[in-house]
Amino acid sequence: MLKNDMLEQWDRESFFHPSTHLAQFARGEAPERVISGGQGVFIEDRDGNRLLDAFAGLYCVNVGYGRSEISEAIAEQARQLSYYHAYVGHGTEASITLAKMVMDRAPDHMSKVYFGLGGSDANETNIKLVWYYNNVRGRPAKKKIISRWRGYHGSGLMTGSLTGLAGFHNKFDLPLAPILHTEAPYYYRRPDLDMTEADFVAHCAAELEALIEREGADTIAAFIGEPVLGTGGIVPPPAGYWEAIQPILEKHDILLIVDEVVTGFGRLGEMFGSSKYGLKPDLITIAKGLTSAYAPLSGSIVSDRMWKVLEEGTDEFGPIGHGWTYSAHPIGAAAGVANLKLIDDLGLVRNAAETGGYFVNAMKTALSEHAHVGDIRGEGMLCAVELVEDKGSRTFYDPAGKVAGAVVAEMATSGVIARAMPQGDIIGFAPPLCLSKEEADRVVEVTAKAVKAVLG
Ligand code: PLP
Repeated sequence: MLKNDMLEQWDRESFFHPSTHLAQFARGEAPERVISGGQGVFIEDRDGNRLLDAFAGLYCVNVGYGRSEISEAIAEQARQLSYYHAYVGHGTEASITLAKMVMDRAPDHMSKVYFGLGGSDANETNIKLVWYYNNVRGRPAKKKIISRWRGYHGSGLMTGSLTGLAGFHNKFDLPLAPILHTEAPYYYRRPDLDMTEADFVAHCAAELEALIEREGADTIAAFIGEPVLGTGGIVPPPAGYWEAIQPILEKHDILLIVDEVVTGFGRLGEMFGSSKYGLKPDLITIAKGLTSAYAPLSGSIVSDRMWKVLEEGTDEFGPIGHGWTYSAHPIGAAAGVANLKLIDDLGLVRNAAETGGYFVNAMKTALSEHAHVGDIRGEGMLCAVELVEDKGSRTFYDPAGKVAGAVVAEMATSGVIARAMPQGDIIGFAPPLCLSKEEADRVVEVTAKAVKAVLG
């Protein structure tokens, strides 16, 4: 337990929290929560409350909290060599070993991995690589990137532009011009209730074709998407979606960036979402599950065909002018090596498939019949419960009512953390991949109780 009773005051006076209502927090109207420890799927706050973290932090603590295999690897790396850079061919045993481990797990046609710090900067790297690639190929006009509404790809200037959620654009003058958005693959929110899943997929494909037609394929460089929409609502794609989208991209020579920041390293019950959905990416974004967030580290995995052009580019123009001081930081890399080994040793990818499937089914059994539960969906260790005012007519709640926020707050009083997703009344779940069936039952029980307490 933390004993410092000045913490709350210091917090409100000094700490600029991300994604927070700043004024309410500073005035003391919004709650603060000081987390002091974690073990398995549980975290503990400063007051000694133990909470089951059914969102694994921000869907990142995939192996669970308190794994000494990783903390010891970090400590050992810090003792031996806390830092050296990766510029001009430098590396460390940890960074080179991790690169090999990532490439051993990545789809076969991928070639190399560049390491950054977080998902946002990895997507920033991806945009630069796509632009560099088209410049080297002598196509300087082919630069626009297509993202999807409700996609989440970060909150920097370019990556916040890729993100298709209004809350990340408003008052920041985003999205910036080279980014375009197309239909979200979100069947429950299809524009016309009479559409079948196949109709809706055809609609998404037609919207994409129309956008490419309007803008001109010779101006469009890449398409970015998460295999399963994450922050936009935790939405698995409708059947046949990727099969319909990929050929359109191929036809127009548009690169595919698959953002696997959430899905990479097992969350969908397979090592990568790309393999699960038969995707052939030119770039894969990785972060969260790479280290289970024991240290910040991300990556951009580059395909053979892109890599070839990058090599040609450096032969022609000299060393690539891209890098961060902390690229491939040895402490992050040591955490990554220990984490990927642990995922294998504990069979967590299989558990994500098995216990994840059990969890989603149990949630459906408990809540499908509820008058205000419109949709329950999931894939692997991801699940969402979408709340609606009227189920038959699919009438959503007024966002100002923050119904999902009220349910999640109620759940926390019973010791379970879920996330009210930022757009729509959607309760999101992304537990650590080590969740047991008993723990899944507990999450379902607390969710059902809270939904009934708030909505009747
Ligand atoms: N891409 C996806 C799919 C994400 O979910 C996130 C973060 O949640 C990011 C990118 C951005 O990662 P970060 O917050 O580490 O910058």
